[in-house]
Amino acid sequence: MKNIKYIVVVQCHIVKERCSGYLCEYAFSERTGSFSNYPKNTPIRFLSLTCGGCCGRAVHRKLSNLIKKIKQKENIGKDEIQVHLSSCISFDSYHGGQCPHKEYLETLICDKLGLDCVDGSRISELTEKRREEGLYKTQFHLTK
Ligand code: SF4
Ligand code: SF4
Repeated sequence: MKNIKYIVVVQCHIVKERCSGYLCEYAFSERTGSFSNYPKNTPIRFLSLTCGGCCGRAVHRKLSNLIKKIKQKENIGKDEIQVHLSSCISFDSYHGGQCPHKEYLETLICDKLGLDCVDGSRISELTEKRREEGLYKTQFHLTK
């Protein structure tokens, strides 16, 4: 696994009107769900931000700012940053379907900004059960 020093979780702006994002942070803290491959006793920092609302274009401004500032302050490079698209963006769930602009978000994050991006953040047990029952269309796969 790469030497990741900084995790950024991009979350759905609409879903976050009702969600604090705590369960994403807790999943990272416990190294569960999409974070389960990160070593637990290694200091990795965590930041969450929203896409800024449909169509997600603001994510480019927000992450550009992060890339610039974190390089200036701490000399952390792009290859040491891992972006996660939250589960409420990546997968079909109780919160609604997969983000209709997911590909666009990936284009901004990966192609335009040169950051690595994976799907998922907190994985709910209940949602996983419903996935197995076929209620939701998209599936969670651990990618890192
Ligand atoms: S994945 Fe869950 S906890 Fe994380 S921002 Fe979306 S709804 Fe909130
Ligand atoms: S672009 Fe996608 S992630 Fe952002 S607010 Fe709209 S539906 Fe949510």
